[in-house]
Amino acid sequence: MPSRRVLIKSAIALLTLLTASPIAVQAANPAPVVATFSILGDMVERIGGEHVAVTTLVGPDGDAHVYQPTTADARAMAEAQVLIENGLEFEGWLDRLVNASNFDGIRVVATNGIKPIPFEESEGHHDDEGHHDDEGHGHNHGTFDPHAWHSLRAAVTYVNNITTSLAQNDPSNASVFYLNREAYVAEIEALDEEIQRMVDTLPSDHRIVITSHDALQYFGQAYGLKFLAPQGLSTESEASAKQVAGLIKQIRKGVIKAVFVENIADSRLIEQIANETGANIGGKLYSDALSGTDGPASTYLKMLRHNSTTIVSALGD
Ligand SMILES: [Zn+2]
Repeated sequence: MPSRRVLIKSAIALLTLLTASPIAVQAANPAPVVATFSILGDMVERIGGEHVAVTTLVGPDGDAHVYQPTTADARAMAEAQVLIENGLEFEGWLDRLVNASNFDGIRVVATNGIKPIPFEESEGHHDDEGHHDDEGHGHNHGTFDPHAWHSLRAAVTYVNNITTSLAQNDPSNASVFYLNREAYVAEIEALDEEIQRMVDTLPSDHRIVITSHDALQYFGQAYGLKFLAPQGLSTESEASAKQVAGLIKQIRKGVIKAVFVENIADSRLIEQIANETGANIGGKLYSDALSGTDGPASTYLKMLRHNSTTIVSALGD
């Protein structure tokens, strides 16, 4: 058995070690990071914690499709060490902002490595007028559907890309970022399973819904629901009269079980469709942005949970 004296000595040594530890007294010096919109901002905060100072360009309830950067954004970009964007042509205004701001940090496309849904596969927004040119005349969508955050499985890729970039920028805190990543991914995967179980309770003929703009294809693909929208992939695109008439016809036939408004999109067209058909508005979905802190979708995971319970409860009746 160690003597009492040895025990005291080691206790003192331990105490000295703890109080003298540079880790314990080092002040946090958070890395300035810019995230293009609120969903990415929340993910970066989850992974970076106190080691990042996040500036989110398009805030809660904001519409990144039609965003106009400000001079404050350019200042934040000039100081940023890391820039996180969605990519897939979601932020059409970003290149100009980057060039105007002398940003010289690490630029990360969060969707890098996901399996994107080709634009053509998305349904519910096509007109038949044949202007499917590749020259970009009046077009505001890319080749792929950019709304991949609605798939929790794709979100794991987002989180991995964000973690790698934060670790590359600040290697001294890399282990913290990877630990935070691990906890976050466990929550993402648990919610993914929970949502799948919820959707699985719906009858197979109660699985078609309408939203304002075509933002939820990834959610539909992940869980086996079909989303139609009078507007296309961007809130900028015009709903065609033909498209709206087609949706109204399908509601009247009883094919479509619910219509939803969105936090970032004009709700008037959806309200008009509901009025004309007597369809119930199933609630408000958070499509391209989080809610404010007091709202039901103040974090990415809360947003996915809110959308799922809103959709499933409207379709379950
Ligand atoms: Zn959108």
